[in-house]
Amino acid sequence: MSGEGLATEIDLPSWFLFGKRLGEYSLDALLLYGKERIDMLLEFSQRRTLEALNSMSGKFNNLVGLVALILAASATNDMYFISWLLEIEGDLFTALFNKLDLGKKVAVLRYILGELLVGIEVVSQKLGMSTESLLPEIQSILPKLTEKRQAMDFLIPMSRFLAAARFSRAYRLIKSSRAIAVRGWVIAPLEEFFRLSKSHYQDMLSEKIQMLSEKIKKDPEFQSYKAFGEELISYWRKKMIVQKPVVRRDLVTTEDRLWERIDTFPPCLRILYDRFISTGYLPHIERLQLGLLLKALGMPLEEQLKLWYRAVDNVGLTWEQFLKKGGYYIRHLYGLEGSRKDYRPPKCETIITRYFCPFVKTNFTELKELIRGMNPAISSSELDKIHEEIISREPRKACARLLASIIKNPNLKISTINHPIQFSRIVYKHSRVRTNESKGKSSENLQENVPQRYKP
Ligand code: SF4
Repeated sequence: MSGEGLATEIDLPSWFLFGKRLGEYSLDALLLYGKERIDMLLEFSQRRTLEALNSMSGKFNNLVGLVALILAASATNDMYFISWLLEIEGDLFTALFNKLDLGKKVAVLRYILGELLVGIEVVSQKLGMSTESLLPEIQSILPKLTEKRQAMDFLIPMSRFLAAARFSRAYRLIKSSRAIAVRGWVIAPLEEFFRLSKSHYQDMLSEKIQMLSEKIKKDPEFQSYKAFGEELISYWRKKMIVQKPVVRRDLVTTEDRLWERIDTFPPCLRILYDRFISTGYLPHIERLQLGLLLKALGMPLEEQLKLWYRAVDNVGLTWEQFLKKGGYYIRHLYGLEGSRKDYRPPKCETIITRYFCPFVKTNFTELKELIRGMNPAISSSELDKIHEEIISREPRKACARLLASIIKNPNLKISTINHPIQFSRIVYKHSRVRTNESKGKSSENLQENVPQRYKP
């Protein structure tokens, strides 16, 4: 296959936003398209088999909807929405890109990287080097690329699918020693450039959001764009909250398996868990927090692996492929890989400064709905007290107020939560006491009986 013959004239796929003219739309029309795109992205995040993707295929071409989401992100600069959008669109891109034939993959990559030479003859001609002098250079990166495969077996097909891109667009491959740099070009097997496509695509979306943001700030219609963006993002927020966790049949609740007792989770854990179950997506740092807290509540490794297999970035992976890719990091959390350290769950102070505590990171209007989801019986005055603690920048006291509203037990003398696991264990203990009381047994002092496995 010659490099020149590879797909230079093949159209970009219909789901690919860039390189297309989409015409003009009113904000009302954009709102409708944007909502459709949000619905599609949430559906995509919940379904990850190839069959499910095939059945959704027509919905991926709603590019006006994607433009609407970009406009909403630009007009509001809502960082949480932007981060969700980039991550989920990146995952969708990967799932769709992986299904393309070779010619279309090259066409997309050429658009993303600007220039892409494919085939050893094309590369050597452009660089003014003979193929004989190029091959030994490539051999230097073979050990990294081939792992256990025979180097020469790999070299022959690789020379056919050898590719080169400008250094400024593909230097990341050099940093990870998966390519060589020659005369301003990065040379590697085509497959390596495929791996770069998602992060470049996300960068392109991010740049588009930033550029548009700068542009519309100066537009006399800026307030209309902002109102449009806020309406669309509010629709997205409601959808994220409304989506109920999928209850798996194998997660049968029993008395002493706290990781299955979602009703005992502290707000930080509950919100992250619900978000992940409903969207399949969490930023990296929040994944770590969720994984460590579930482990601390006793979730076995096998269950944790099953949970993370749901992530949208594992779309299209078989269970075995997932175990090789993401499974390593999860086993790492359990001290079974790398430094074999048994990582402890972070306490509230650490979560508040470095991870996700909703009493710090979530605006109160949204938080109120989330709290009501955890405690539908909460009164307005209890909500007001929580709000006051948040305004006073006392997230751990706000959390204790929420706990008190759930427990409703005057014997509980806790004014500050120190550790998420402490929260779970108190709620769990309380539920057991209530059950015992309803069976006629005596009440217990909740504070004294909280198991201290993770003493704050
Ligand atoms: Fe979680 Fe602690 Fe924040 Fe409560 S105060 S939500 S337990 S981090």
